[in-house]
Amino acid sequence: MWRELAPIGRHCGSGGYRRFAWTGADAECRAWFERQAVARGLAYEVDRNGNQWAWLGDPARGDAVVAGSHLDSVPDGGAFDGPLGVVSAFAALDELRGRGARFDRPFGIVNFGDEEGARFGLACVGSRLAAGQLTVAAAHALTDADGVTLPQAMAAAGHDPDAIGADRERLDRIGAFVELHVEQGRALDLSGDPVGVASAIWPHGRWRFDFRGEANHAGTTRLVDRRDPMLSYAETVLAARREARLAGAVATFGKIAVEPNGVNAVPSLVRGWLDSRAEDQATLDTVVDGIEKAAREYADAHGVDLDVVRESFTPVVEFDDALRDELARVLGRDTGLKVPVLGTGAGHDAGILSAALPTAMLFVRNPTGVSHSPAESATEDDCVAGVRALADVLEGLARK
Ligand SMILES: [Zn+2]
Repeated sequence: MWRELAPIGRHCGSGGYRRFAWTGADAECRAWFERQAVARGLAYEVDRNGNQWAWLGDPARGDAVVAGSHLDSVPDGGAFDGPLGVVSAFAALDELRGRGARFDRPFGIVNFGDEEGARFGLACVGSRLAAGQLTVAAAHALTDADGVTLPQAMAAAGHDPDAIGADRERLDRIGAFVELHVEQGRALDLSGDPVGVASAIWPHGRWRFDFRGEANHAGTTRLVDRRDPMLSYAETVLAARREARLAGAVATFGKIAVEPNGVNAVPSLVRGWLDSRAEDQATLDTVVDGIEKAAREYADAHGVDLDVVRESFTPVVEFDDALRDELARVLGRDTGLKVPVLGTGAGHDAGILSAALPTAMLFVRNPTGVSHSPAESATEDDCVAGVRALADVLEGLARK
């Protein structure tokens, strides 16, 4: 499976993957999924939102067990983020058939469309639409960097954009969804475990900080006369790092806009975007309040005005307790060891769907801890351990 997937959408310069929703590379990945489904004698279907499904047994019976993830990528993404979950689901089915496992419940494998949001700027479009967390009007308004709208891109790829929308009937057929994913951090590498179970997805938000000062000549304006918003911004970046470190959270200023953006001008405006995530809501509030308070002090000290706007927020996602405990129990059964249960700062389709049905996640060790980059990695042994773990979990779930 990896040999066939490896060349699709790979950029020869960066070595990273560029598999964006509804592009040629995406179509190749989707054709690969269909071939895998057909080769295993599974019933193949594409839902109204462009998500692909492969079924063993009739899903209309309900209470189905589903595994899978996504095949699209961020710009210059790694090989494993997404595909590892889909490949492992097919491999787990092969393993279970080899074991002669019993399937009392319908079993499905899914590839959720447009998970990364690399093209249209919104993540998890396929699962959000299905779960009714994204309106058709909002989806139809999504536009890529070239001005192509989502409906245009869907139509060009042969999918009817007017068919999209909430698909509760399809989701209601599912009794459990397990998404296996490469870890996007180093917790398993540090604990020495090949596989872990997800506890929750951290709450996270984005805030825009507008520091407004006064544009002036970089050569003739005395330092004491300046109202330089860049200074307040720079101090705020350091404060963000400090507040996050003290709270065990993360905070990042990764995007900035400067006006007038001239080498020889004191800026009039510095706009910085803060992304912050923490284990729980209270911690996140503490971190962001601390950063904002510090920013106001720095702005005051430099005669700079400050506006802070929260642009987006996603509350904590707790995975289904019973399913998570079952996963941890099954995985610890043979070794008697405690399976690591980890929180994560990254969003996933399983997180979106957790509001609609019981979901759980397995993580496979990523020795570099790097994600959304070609440096993302997983050893073959760990990938196999992931498949076994997924197969064990699914075997238990598939039997009533
Ligand atoms: Zn992913």
